[in-house]
Amino acid sequence: MSQFNIPNRQDVPLLDQWDLTHLFQHESDWESAYTTSEKQVELFDSFKGTLHQSKEQLLKLLHLLTQEGILLERIMQYAFLQQTSDGGSSTYQHRYGKAQQLITLFSSKTSFIEPEIMAIDEPTLQSWLALAEFDDYRVMIQKMLRFKDHTLDQEQEKIMALQQEVGSKASEAFGALTNVDLQFGTITTDEGKVPLTQSTFGSLLQHPSRSVRRRTYNKFYKVFDQHKHVLTQLYDAAVKQSMFRSRVRSYPSTLEMALFPDNVDKNVYENLIQTVHNHISLLHRYYEIRKRALGLKKLAHYDVYVPLVKDVKVTHTYEEAVELIKEAMAPLGQEYVDTITRGLTTDRWVDRYENKGKRSGAFSSGTFSGPPYILMNYKEDVLRDVFTLAHEGGHSMHSYYSAKSNPYSSYDYTIFEAEVASTFNEQLLAHHMIQKADSKELEAYIVGKQIDDIVATLFRQTMFAEFEMIVHHSAEQGEPITVDSLTSKYRSLLEFYFGKDVQLFDVSALEALRIPHFYRPFYVYKYATGLSAAIALAEGVLQHKEGAKERYLSFLHSGGSHYPIDALKKAGVDMSSATPIEDAMDFFNELLDRYEQLIV
Ligand SMILES: [Zn+2]
Repeated sequence: MSQFNIPNRQDVPLLDQWDLTHLFQHESDWESAYTTSEKQVELFDSFKGTLHQSKEQLLKLLHLLTQEGILLERIMQYAFLQQTSDGGSSTYQHRYGKAQQLITLFSSKTSFIEPEIMAIDEPTLQSWLALAEFDDYRVMIQKMLRFKDHTLDQEQEKIMALQQEVGSKASEAFGALTNVDLQFGTITTDEGKVPLTQSTFGSLLQHPSRSVRRRTYNKFYKVFDQHKHVLTQLYDAAVKQSMFRSRVRSYPSTLEMALFPDNVDKNVYENLIQTVHNHISLLHRYYEIRKRALGLKKLAHYDVYVPLVKDVKVTHTYEEAVELIKEAMAPLGQEYVDTITRGLTTDRWVDRYENKGKRSGAFSSGTFSGPPYILMNYKEDVLRDVFTLAHEGGHSMHSYYSAKSNPYSSYDYTIFEAEVASTFNEQLLAHHMIQKADSKELEAYIVGKQIDDIVATLFRQTMFAEFEMIVHHSAEQGEPITVDSLTSKYRSLLEFYFGKDVQLFDVSALEALRIPHFYRPFYVYKYATGLSAAIALAEGVLQHKEGAKERYLSFLHSGGSHYPIDALKKAGVDMSSATPIEDAMDFFNELLDRYEQLIV
């Protein structure tokens, strides 16, 4: 579709849009729900200071919290989805703004609840929780109580909340500097001058011309070199903020503070890094294949993203993509296949194509009381979009089953688990499409995509995770954070992960200063563990291992009823052991064997 025939929102056929009437039949119903919710939220005040009085009082509060929570979630979902479908609509902007105000009001009206529940005499509270009336709330409250030792008294918590605004400034300043203030100029290509920005950097590094890639790389990092001192200060501030919070809240370290909410042990994190280290020669093998495939004597750091296989010329209409997904998901059984097929077609979970003002990319968003929804910008000639649809469909099915099988207070799964359900579906789709592939090109494209995903997710995110661990640990030992200390630590990691076949430059280590994820400490490792788990689980299901399918489906139903490591154990993978990561590495090695036959 050219720029000229992208339709306006009001011209998109209804069947290509998601069906928001599952949430509210008419827009006026949203308005009346809003009024109801606004009144209901005032009721919380009367509970202040009373939760310890009796179990009946606590239950009454929990019922209200559930009722209001479910309603509010629908109100927000509706406004959010509309807003993403047409960001230019002032009606939608207004509605979304109103929904956000309501959420803020709800948060302030309910902020007394957690501290008050934690303050209830523990044996009394536990005796209440043992009763059947508390079935729907037990998981939520037990999870809440774990934080008791790390929660301060009311006055101190107030100070912490006030400090939070200052504390997040380093990250905001980093965003403003790198996305707005820094100017990178333009890159001359055969197709004309291309502005170099944060978002074109990635695509220019995939340019077939080596000269374009080299100039892009040098120009981009030159700007970071000119700002390396301020970038180091900002990152230092973010690390210090994290240390401040972990110390005030009595966590042994920043790492342990970050892992605490998911109840993940430090050894899961360390085990990931160690296992990837043990198999690093596989990544080096990949770069060696890449070097040969590109016909280069030396592979430079700016040559590691250029695709080795061009996007194959195949087209899939949306309906054909759904058909492929349907066939690929067959190992999960008829019920799964029927539900996802209906969701992607007649039940209209999906907003299918691009229109003016619509958010780019793709996402899945679920709630407790409505169907999950998927935003796509599906293009028939982009093979990757078929995978994206399968990916978002995986998230949606996870949301769908979790909402169906759990009480509201504990239906939602964690980010740790989220990427398992989505990348699992991509594995099944890749397997199916390779079996069906009628050309070497198509097979090479799919194998290449799987390899790229593992390199980008499992290896690269683990390198990031290791860097974060090293930096935080040395800062906690009192070592100052300087430009040199950061770049030399990062440089050694680059050398270890890329191996001797990849040529690095003086500016290469400046990458450490441009990764936005580092401003959310110890988060990226979840991508690596998620993909490893998905690969291991998909292999189990595809090889028809006894009970593998049933275990995986029960994981999709588990929502937030367990901590992520326990939920995944039930699914069949133990993330505290090396096995799932080793399985993923074996799988990567097989992909490399096949890739070598196909392309070199
Ligand atoms: Zn995802």
